[in-house]
Amino acid sequence: MNSSAMPVIPVPAGLDTKCFVLGEGALVYLPELLKQEFPGKVPWIVADDNTWRAAGAEAQELLDKAGLTPAKPCIFPGTPVLHPDFAYSEKLASLMPENCVPVAVGSGVINDLTKCASGLKKLPYCCVPTACSVDGFTSAGAALAVNHNKQTVKCPAPHAICADTAVMATAPAPMLSSGYADLLTKIVAGADWIIADATGEQPIRPDVWQMIQGNIRRWVAAPKDMLNIFEGLAATGYSMQMMLDSRPASGSEHLFGHVWEMEGLKKDGIDVSHGFKVGVGLLAGAKLMEYICGNPYAAVASRATAPLSIEARKAEIDALLAKNCYGPDPKRISLAKFKTGEAALERRKLIAGVWEPLRAKLEKQLYPYERLRSMLLAAGCPVTPARIGLSREQFLHGIRTAQLIRNRYTVLDFLYDAGLLEDAMTGLEVMIG
Ligand SMILES: [Zn+2]
Repeated sequence: MNSSAMPVIPVPAGLDTKCFVLGEGALVYLPELLKQEFPGKVPWIVADDNTWRAAGAEAQELLDKAGLTPAKPCIFPGTPVLHPDFAYSEKLASLMPENCVPVAVGSGVINDLTKCASGLKKLPYCCVPTACSVDGFTSAGAALAVNHNKQTVKCPAPHAICADTAVMATAPAPMLSSGYADLLTKIVAGADWIIADATGEQPIRPDVWQMIQGNIRRWVAAPKDMLNIFEGLAATGYSMQMMLDSRPASGSEHLFGHVWEMEGLKKDGIDVSHGFKVGVGLLAGAKLMEYICGNPYAAVASRATAPLSIEARKAEIDALLAKNCYGPDPKRISLAKFKTGEAALERRKLIAGVWEPLRAKLEKQLYPYERLRSMLLAAGCPVTPARIGLSREQFLHGIRTAQLIRNRYTVLDFLYDAGLLEDAMTGLEVMIG
């Protein structure tokens, strides 16, 4: 085989990920990729029944034929749907053959389980995605439930990725829709970073910014263009590896998604995909940002509610967190960012000062709400809360609660600190219909 034919996409230096192969039919390069990146290691495929059929069996055969003598694969049942539970990763780690390179053949869950297991054994691994569904393939860390508590478990990103668009095209259509929505969120996440930058909360890092925001419009231009979409999702993972933080990939829209995820959101008895939750979230985030773009500060300042006392805010937080399912210590997080008295007034002064230049910057960064909605619809994504199983109450509760669960500064904090969050939220009515 001609090694120069391997469709390698450059990866920024200094990351866990060293080699990224992407293209139609790229699976045939898996043996060559493993020989190059993991010399002398025994490939060990981890899959489930579905992903084994999609690519696992063929990969095993390719490795066999190439003389790599792969170990007996580990294949999870395809049904019921495999849950991303840390216990499975511990099990995988205990099953890992001697001197192996784990090869995760699957979508997000198989990849996260294998990523974490490989991290436990301190073994670099290779990822063969079977769906273009999420940006987590290339990120450091795995989204897993530890003792029923969903969290990001620290572990290195894959050393190598072999992504075959012909394989990913065989995945159920909603998986690509979901990946597209997750990618499109970067428009809103970028706008949230602009807000955090303007308020001095988290400066924009130009190299990371450019990597995502310099390309996002191209990546999302066509809803079925898997080469571009997967390249974008992969780059998003790299940007998080570079920042050691999910800021470049995740803003207010992901916070909404996390809240609904922690509440166990289902539609017709089935878990709603990550992409579909953050897709509805990105429309809500964009609507809130349009409130800023559409109004000079002078036009809305008189509608601002007075800053709360610490007691009143505590009561408000307790009411919002009543379901008690929002992670380890959301009350501490939300009180740490709460400003009262002088600090609250100072923040309002700052907001008044940055509002006008921010309007222009957000206007430039965002696509209008209607356009984002059309893009999601064209990609087959839900665009209303009801379509992902959210009642009006749960949707609006999620908007208010999302501000409490992380210290990440977003449009939610900006509007809350301005005393204008409730006023801006009236704009969300158009989404509820
Ligand atoms: Zn995401």
